[in-house]
Amino acid sequence: MDIADLPLREDLRGRSPYGAPQLDVAVRLNTNENSFPLPKQLVDDIAEAVRDAAATLNRYPDREAAALRTDLAAYLGHGLSERQVWPANGSNEILQQVLQAFGGPGRVALGFTPSYSVHPIIATGTGTGWIDGTRAGDFTLSAENAVAAVKEHQPDVVFLCSPNNPTGTALDLDVVEAVLAVARGMVVVDEAYAEFARTGTKSALTLLPGHPRLVVTRTMSKAFGMAGLRLGYLVADPAVIDALHLVRLPYHLSALTQAAARVALAHGPDLLATVELIKAQRDRIIAELPRLGLRSVPSDANFVLFGGFADAGATWRALLDEGVLIRDVGLPGWLRVTAGTEPETTAFLDALEKVATA
Ligand code: PMP
Repeated sequence: MDIADLPLREDLRGRSPYGAPQLDVAVRLNTNENSFPLPKQLVDDIAEAVRDAAATLNRYPDREAAALRTDLAAYLGHGLSERQVWPANGSNEILQQVLQAFGGPGRVALGFTPSYSVHPIIATGTGTGWIDGTRAGDFTLSAENAVAAVKEHQPDVVFLCSPNNPTGTALDLDVVEAVLAVARGMVVVDEAYAEFARTGTKSALTLLPGHPRLVVTRTMSKAFGMAGLRLGYLVADPAVIDALHLVRLPYHLSALTQAAARVALAHGPDLLATVELIKAQRDRIIAELPRLGLRSVPSDANFVLFGGFADAGATWRALLDEGVLIRDVGLPGWLRVTAGTEPETTAFLDALEKVATA
């Protein structure tokens, strides 16, 4: 039996699934997780909260996740209310719900490549057409280019990613505002890495008043170090959340997830203390690369896109042989590395020095 023998949807035939390698190596810097170990007190508190929630598992969870939404709104600040916040199993599920409600067959989404590779995958999964807008050679996206693409393609959903994965740089809010001014559809700003942005970077959350078609997505997978929890969320006008209720699965967010996420938010200051340490390692990577004859893209995220390779794939494999797993994002000449702990960053830089000068 082979996938080709199944009555699969025509538009899925021949496609590849998302699949960053999950390899058991000493230094894993390929999926932009937070490498820092979780505080013991947090682990104990999660275990206790999950234990309490377990006693209620005969009942469906709160389908509105009211308490969690209140906590998320409080974390974000900006005068946001719980009615503007909506959580799901990772921001990937949030993005899927957005496309289920606002994309779908006969509709199109526009993104600006290179960007988060899952945006087009979720578009395909929801039967939404995908249009690749382009970036300048230095991976920046100007308001002028973004507006031109929106005017040309008239998308139902526009994806902006800030800080952008895999390039790392945050967008100026004037780009978001310019897109909002001309887009007739929804405008999603994927801010999965917002907490790592350099000082002075403004979040698209500040644009929510007066922009009911703006959706800002966030996650606890990165800065909070909770990738395994699967908790992402969006912030938008409450009417957008009403629309998502039409497509979300009933009781999509487990009572255990809700309980654990609330504990993690309560430990927010402790968890987020790692952000400054990670930013320091990111900036250290950027500072060290020129010494190795390599260049990088300015980063507001917990990773660095760096290049100057004749054969990036060969360097990726050579680093893996040294026990360091990073990401080949498919951009010729470039590789992406997550900023980890200080020892991990040292291991990466030492291995890179060895293989880059070999
Ligand atoms: N958006 C971006 C830009 C990402 O890089 C990621 C994770 N790599 C996600 C969303 C999804 O994260 P999660 O589903 O874990 O919230």
